[in-house]
Amino acid sequence: MHELRFNPLTGEWVIISSTRSSRPVLPEGSCPLCPGVLELEKDYDLAVFDNRYPSLLLNAEEPHTYGSRVLKTEKAIGKCEVIMYTSEHNSAVSKLNLKQLTKLIEVWCDRYRELSNLNGIKYIFIFENRGKEVGTTLSHAHGQLYAFPFIPKRIKEKLHTIKTYYLKNLSCALCDLIKENSLEKNIVRETEYMLTVVPPYARFPYEVHIYPKRHVSAIIDLTAREKIDLAVAIGDVAKRYDKLFDEAFPYMMTLYNPPVNTGEIHDDYFHFHVEFNPPKRTKDKLKWMASVETGSWTFINPSEPEEVAKKLREVVIDNG
Ligand SMILES: [Zn+2]
Ligand SMILES: [Zn+2]
Repeated sequence: MHELRFNPLTGEWVIISSTRSSRPVLPEGSCPLCPGVLELEKDYDLAVFDNRYPSLLLNAEEPHTYGSRVLKTEKAIGKCEVIMYTSEHNSAVSKLNLKQLTKLIEVWCDRYRELSNLNGIKYIFIFENRGKEVGTTLSHAHGQLYAFPFIPKRIKEKLHTIKTYYLKNLSCALCDLIKENSLEKNIVRETEYMLTVVPPYARFPYEVHIYPKRHVSAIIDLTAREKIDLAVAIGDVAKRYDKLFDEAFPYMMTLYNPPVNTGEIHDDYFHFHVEFNPPKRTKDKLKWMASVETGSWTFINPSEPEEVAKKLREVVIDNG
């Protein structure tokens, strides 16, 4: 069954996606994402394909109806895609060279552009889950995207908050934050066009955000030079993470672009950014989404973001 169900108490859409089809059986130890195994026939550089087990589908089935005044269902329309970063099995964002990372950014732009032309798509969420700690079963470096038929709740909150700030101050909240220099102690790395910070409001101990210094609403609005700088910044964060505990550091990387097809223009106040949310609090301990986090959406961060920024700043990495 695939359908959207509306939570009448919180206003959240939940995707019910129960699949009965079993996964194809592969020879032991083989990776379905390696060239010629299952998903992709021949060698590839970067590649995008439809997720074999999508939660959202362009030809989604009719949802069942309750005949209720309170309960609402909708078709789970959308797309779930897998983005392969490289055909090399043992790679990772921390190991990709600058050229490959820049190409990845072009692929993200291409997908954002193309999917925003699809009828009924309201939000394109690009992300990477890395590591078994965040549920990744395949270690071959890849990211994903979900093209949603609605604006997810947390994004709605972001939009509302930055729009309110904009209407009051006639400026973008992130631009103001960058300009007023209050992030000095939070900086991990600064390049010509990008600022990498552990934000003062970090929810996860090792949370890192990348902000373009210029006001850019969507990833497709970045100039070629800015895209290269974003590639540098993303690679830099991943390298620092891996060096931190000398192990493949698990994380969730998420890209924030403005919604599409809403009939509204969000360009003046939506400032494109990237977030890394790693689940670790120490080398051996995880930061759980426990009762307070899950139930009240209030995060308790057991570390001081400025201390973590210092720690990450001092990690010595090869910047090649
Ligand atoms: Zn592989
Ligand atoms: Zn801005």
